[in-house]
Amino acid sequence: MRRVLALDFDGVISNSAPEAFVVALRTFVLLRSGSSLRTLASAGEGDAAPDLETVESHPVYGSFLELMPLGNRAEDYGVCLSAIEAGRSLPDQDAYDAYRSGFDADWMRAYHARFYEVRAALCAADPIRWQRLMRPYQPFLDVLRRRAADAALCVATAKDRGSVRRLLRAYGVDELFPEDCVLDKEAGVSKSAHLVHLQQKFGCRFDAMTFVDDKVTHLDDVARLGVRCALAGWGFNAERERALARAAGHLVCDLGDVEAQLFG
Ligand SMILES: [Mg+2]
Repeated sequence: MRRVLALDFDGVISNSAPEAFVVALRTFVLLRSGSSLRTLASAGEGDAAPDLETVESHPVYGSFLELMPLGNRAEDYGVCLSAIEAGRSLPDQDAYDAYRSGFDADWMRAYHARFYEVRAALCAADPIRWQRLMRPYQPFLDVLRRRAADAALCVATAKDRGSVRRLLRAYGVDELFPEDCVLDKEAGVSKSAHLVHLQQKFGCRFDAMTFVDDKVTHLDDVARLGVRCALAGWGFNAERERALARAAGHLVCDLGDVEAQLFG
């Protein structure tokens, strides 16, 4: 029996941070029209998607990347941008959680809803440049292609399956992932629900499965099942998260050693 290799999508297969930043910033200035972030050299306005270089050189993109691992949901991007606008330093999860607890629940709900509207509008207005904001982690895709015979490859993601399929196709690895091996939020709210679903589908033992995610809390959740867990150190995390993952007993991989760590 081959191993089952279940992969998170954003931050493992796809570097979607530039896209998340553009959508997050557009949503933020829609909800907070007086925001000082509006006046910055903007990747945030207009119908067209900016190019990758514009996003990566944006004055607050670096700060956004640092805060991103501390959040979970779309509205957390609003929290991150608020902190950046206010010049608040949020060095760890406790500081982030305390800051987040001061946010109005209605504002958070509105941010969440608008975020997905803004994303859909951007995708519809400028699909080609929108897609270019989500580059693949090519060295990891090369590993998957080389090792496709050694594991059943699956995706376990909160992204919608339509977007996942479109990007897998654009990355040229569509055929590595059969249709019933791509699980999105419809298959359950938690990553452990996804892994249970796959375990039943393949009729394998949990210890014959490996799960790769760039978020430590997702690994903690899945490790309780007895699944081998690995942090994608190339994704949306920092040394702070890598230390937590090591302490919890997860593998911590980078693009140079992931093939050896996952496949021996
Ligand atoms: Mg992720």
